Amino acid sequence: NLSFKLDRAFKTLKGTGTITEINVASTVKEIRRALIDADVNYKVAKDVTDRIKEEALGRDVLIAVSPGQLLVKITQEELTKLMGGAKEDINLKGDPAVVLISGLQGSGKTTFSGKLAAFLKKQGRQVLLVGCDIYRPAAIEQLKTLGGQIGVEVYAEPENKDAVTIAKNAIAHAKKTGKKTVIIDTAGRLAVDDKMMDEISVLKSTVNPSETLFVVDSMTGQDAVNTAKTFDERLDFDGVVLTKLDGDSRGGAAISIRHVVNKPIKFISTGEKMENLDIFYPDRMAQRILGMGDVISLVEKAQQSFDEDEAKRINAKIRKNQFNFDDFLSQLEQIKKMGNIKDLLGMIPGMGKAMRGLDIDDDSFKPIEAIIKSMTPGERENPDIIDGSRRKRLAAGSGRSIQEVNNLMKQFGDMKKMMKQMNNMGGAKKALGALG
Ligand code: GDP
Ligand code: MG
Repeated sequence: NLSFKLDRAFKTLKGTGTITEINVASTVKEIRRALIDADVNYKVAKDVTDRIKEEALGRDVLIAVSPGQLLVKITQEELTKLMGGAKEDINLKGDPAVVLISGLQGSGKTTFSGKLAAFLKKQGRQVLLVGCDIYRPAAIEQLKTLGGQIGVEVYAEPENKDAVTIAKNAIAHAKKTGKKTVIIDTAGRLAVDDKMMDEISVLKSTVNPSETLFVVDSMTGQDAVNTAKTFDERLDFDGVVLTKLDGDSRGGAAISIRHVVNKPIKFISTGEKMENLDIFYPDRMAQRILGMGDVISLVEKAQQSFDEDEAKRINAKIRKNQFNFDDFLSQLEQIKKMGNIKDLLGMIPGMGKAMRGLDIDDDSFKPIEAIIKSMTPGERENPDIIDGSRRKRLAAGSGRSIQEVNNLMKQFGDMKKMMKQMNNMGGAKKALGALG
């Protein structure tokens, strides 16, 4: 019946001052969609948004910022946490320190090797680049060209087809020439295969690198995650380099990879030039993913649909037992602005099923609105003066039956009683908590 509907609807809108299931659920759904659009794996996106929801529900908006801003902030915090929180440096222990570069063909290994060499050189380290791609003569040439550009020596043995021997010789050469860092660029295949994995595993156990990096093309989306998983199982690498973040890539791969292999991302590559290398900062990436996923505008949109000042004003009136028909009308407007009533009510935990059988829609409010709009300002302000003759006038004025007017008056009276009880219990907030 209508009394039941109103009761529920009222419970729904009372939550507008705090973050409730209702105002969180739809926003969280939008955030999840945005993350998936940004290439975050579905399961990961679901995990993150579930956590965001949990976090958000625990916070009080009245003492914080607006619900929308708070949600964005929480989302950014969660994404940052998910990507490891703080930046992680590469480990350059050893004399020389050996950095092994792994990854599929075309992922950007050779380019990154050059960039890393330039980056370390700038920090004053003596670097030796080593070409261990024994399958493609062009790869050695590519590395030599890069070395020439950045002024770093490149060690290669074009006739030698044994990567392990080349690497050993290179390390000996580095010791002899006083190079403190050796960066080994390796061969990759177009897809993961056992032979490639065997080769790089043997190389790793022979040269004992202080840092093994896995280079992955961020444009490859879900494949990037699977490749990372396979490489990590065989190689147990120390860190990830995400390349080609200058393209359409939205960076979601960073979250998925971190989540799946639990290894830190250490560098990002944003172009073909040697200076296009950045240290990976989780908070900046979170911002990028949020920005590109348009989450902020989505959240703002969701927020516009409920007016927080109004919610505070009404909460205050409820606390002082001054809630009147004007406030009631304003609350109905707010509910309607938030979208489909049935959907909203369905978001209350446990209510979804109960709601399915009811015929609640925006039209359910029409008779009520008509009656309230027929009231004089004095009647709305002070409903106690609405006696029998006034009720007859309201029915005639609104085109509703006297029965409907009486029902509304009764419901309004019940609602006020309920509010009074809640106030006596220690405020609306306590009751809200009990509802959740
Ligand atoms: P490798 O096969 O893993 O050694 O990959 P390469 O270093 O040879 O890179 C493959 C292609 O990707 C080359 O054309 C590079 O110029 C290009 N590349 C590498 N890193 C980036 C990057 O961060 N952004 C863009 N746009 N291109 C890149
Ligand atoms: Mg290469």
